[in-house]
Amino acid sequence: MPIEVRLFPCLSDNYGFLVRDTATGDTAAVDTPDGEAVLRELEASGWRLSLILNTHWHPDHTQGNAAVAAATGAQIVGPAEIRRAAPLDREVKGGDEVALGATRFQVLETGGHTLGHISYYDAADRTAFVGDTLFALGCGRLFEGTPAMMWDSLQRLAALPDETTVYCAHEYTASNARFALTLDRSEAVAARAKAVFAARERGEPTVPTTIGAEKATNPFLRAPELVRGDPVEAFAKVRAGKDAFKG
Ligand code: ZN
Ligand code: FE
Repeated sequence: MPIEVRLFPCLSDNYGFLVRDTATGDTAAVDTPDGEAVLRELEASGWRLSLILNTHWHPDHTQGNAAVAAATGAQIVGPAEIRRAAPLDREVKGGDEVALGATRFQVLETGGHTLGHISYYDAADRTAFVGDTLFALGCGRLFEGTPAMMWDSLQRLAALPDETTVYCAHEYTASNARFALTLDRSEAVAARAKAVFAARERGEPTVPTTIGAEKATNPFLRAPELVRGDPVEAFAKVRAGKDAFKG
């Protein structure tokens, strides 16, 4: 039985997600950018929350943990680093599995943005929640990890099937598209950037994306084709370029 996902904007540019296992009705919130917004969305959906799945410790992903858990009794699952910022009930790491009703999420180690960052992958539904590791046309800043660590994490995600639906935690795509256009003059990037600007103009989200779309157009995944150097060096250069990019 498949999952159903509700995406909702939170704070200035975060997305919150509710994921419902349709076999049992069990629901998870992926991160808690804004406790009130998560509870409002739950109320609107009529879904029953049993889990919070945290990707990393940053406050814009964990600050609603306490309020949402108190209001719903949900169990909080995440990497150990969550404790730096918020309550956590069950510590998980790469290779672990998290059950939501009949749905199984594999925990993927995707450090780099923070050291303990993880992603959740539901292979049966080909769906991944990647937090601040991979964005549409972008990737997370390296606040704690090295370029080599982040490159490894991105490769782990790029190895998922092309049709995998990817839920990223921020709407950064228009800025990412402007940056991508400075590096990559391919028709695929031009066409995607045009579609992204039009969607944002209409106020529509550009998330989710797919692994296939990112492999074809994301300048961070394509770094070795766009920039000289070995893959990690090329990636580090593209990341540094985006860090300095104004736009
Ligand atoms: Zn973050
Ligand atoms: Fe974030």
